[in-house]
Amino acid sequence: MHDVAIVGAGPAGMAGALQLARAGLSVVVIDEQARAGGQIFRRPPEEFGVRHGQYRPYGWARDLIEDFEEHPLIETRFRQTVFGILRDPEGQISLAVSDGQRGTRIKARRVLLATGAYDMPVAFPGWTLPGVMTAGAVQSLLKSQKLLAGRQIVVAGSHPIQLILAAQLLEAGADLAAIALARDLPGFLEMARTLPAIPGNVSIFTEALRAMAVIARHRVPLLRRTLISAVEQTGEGPLRISLRKVDAQWRPVGTAREFEADVLALGYGFTPSTELARQAGCALSWHSAGGGWTVQHDDNFRTGVQEIFVAGEQTGVAGAGRAHAEGLVAGQAIAHSLGVGADPLEVNRAQALLKSSERFAGVMQTMFEPNRTALADLSHHSATVICRCEEITSGQLEDALTCNPFLTSASAAKLECRTGMGVCQGRYCEGTVAARIAMHHNTQIAQAGHFNAHLPVKPVPLGAYGDLDH
Ligand SMILES: Cc1cc2nc3c(=O)[nH]c(=O)nc-3n(C[C@H](O)[C@H](O)[C@H](O)COP(=O)(O)OP(=O)(O)OC[C@H]3O[C@@H](n4cnc5c(N)ncnc54)[C@H](O)[C@@H]3O)c2cc1C
Repeated sequence: MHDVAIVGAGPAGMAGALQLARAGLSVVVIDEQARAGGQIFRRPPEEFGVRHGQYRPYGWARDLIEDFEEHPLIETRFRQTVFGILRDPEGQISLAVSDGQRGTRIKARRVLLATGAYDMPVAFPGWTLPGVMTAGAVQSLLKSQKLLAGRQIVVAGSHPIQLILAAQLLEAGADLAAIALARDLPGFLEMARTLPAIPGNVSIFTEALRAMAVIARHRVPLLRRTLISAVEQTGEGPLRISLRKVDAQWRPVGTAREFEADVLALGYGFTPSTELARQAGCALSWHSAGGGWTVQHDDNFRTGVQEIFVAGEQTGVAGAGRAHAEGLVAGQAIAHSLGVGADPLEVNRAQALLKSSERFAGVMQTMFEPNRTALADLSHHSATVICRCEEITSGQLEDALTCNPFLTSASAAKLECRTGMGVCQGRYCEGTVAARIAMHHNTQIAQAGHFNAHLPVKPVPLGAYGDLDH
């Protein structure tokens, strides 16, 4: 049995693992990816023969990865998926893990969930066509395989990461037909409000300015207050991407403008990966600016389930700096809960990092919160698919809502019309379904709640599931 099992080797998981290992505790870290780094520090696989990727603007990433990879008390299991959290009759907690073929249980005294976030999906006419991708997927191909998803690309979204992605694509040789941002560029007052976030985060602001300079140098049209509206494709031809001018509330004004491209890279925000926390019985809170449903925790990042702690994007999408700081604090708290005290200097350092990253996260979350109602409204055409796994259309959901006035929650919609019952277990459709229910009943999205998560939270072969009994 390990002292601590950590799910996720991103900045939060790596920072937590190092704190624990340095305190002399045995740690196992499981991650679906081929190497440590998480989403932001994704690297090519070892077979490419390069140890490090591009970590700008986070100067600390290189040392974090090296210290993590070299620590003798940290055992790593890559290319493995944690598909559930179990409790045996004696009360012992364990992780259900699949290597893609077989299943195994990993027992630990404590669990740290550092599973990060995924791109927020948005449903609109044509969103399931090949070539319509999330910004994170386009970036993952570039970071891990050095591949451009297409030659001609349109970037659309509202998250600041779109500008960073655009610059990365341009520098890799892509031709960007347009960058469409749903919001305006920050005005003077908004910029003034970012001032408290600058101390400790200068490199991030510098990186954003650098990205803007690359975009300007390549003369890419930067369309402000412009929202995706639909995508069409004839045969093998290019995507025809309709973008519409919107007002400050993201309501359409004026006619659509069409662009042609091989790929549309969409980035309206991120959604915390809370499926394991949900399945384990941890309570969630609604925090729209933080990405939607986030895992409830105390000041030590302990959840309502005694042995389970969380760190990183699951507590609210807030960037790599805060994920790293939370990993440090959670690692120290877990060590303390197992009777091992931390060096007071380390504790102070972690708390200071947490404070400065929280200032930054607060400003960013407020400035770039997606307009969830406007985005869900893009799916209102009755033929638009909402749940792509079960192929449930907008019209089917609307019919169910009209026929059954008591259908007021995402879980009820799942039972009534199967949205969220497919292989992705609702990761694609939950946000749209909840927002559409709220729009139908004229209530808040939070009131529609979330889908429950059950074992297995991610698709695994039946054999892996069966192995757990042994
Ligand atoms: C695709 C993508 C690209 C991003 N790119 C950037 C960027 O360029 N710049 C930026 O500032 N921010 C980026 N972000 C935001 C980024 O998530 C955070 O800044 C930061 O990486 C969060 O760190 P974390 O440790 O909380 O989680 P992550 O870095 O996301 O790490 C979580 C890890 O958990 C693993 N995991 C999750 N569930 C399981 C499971 N069930 N079993 C096994 N392993 C699991 C994942 O494989 C992942 O490696 C990106 C996010 C995404 C989703």
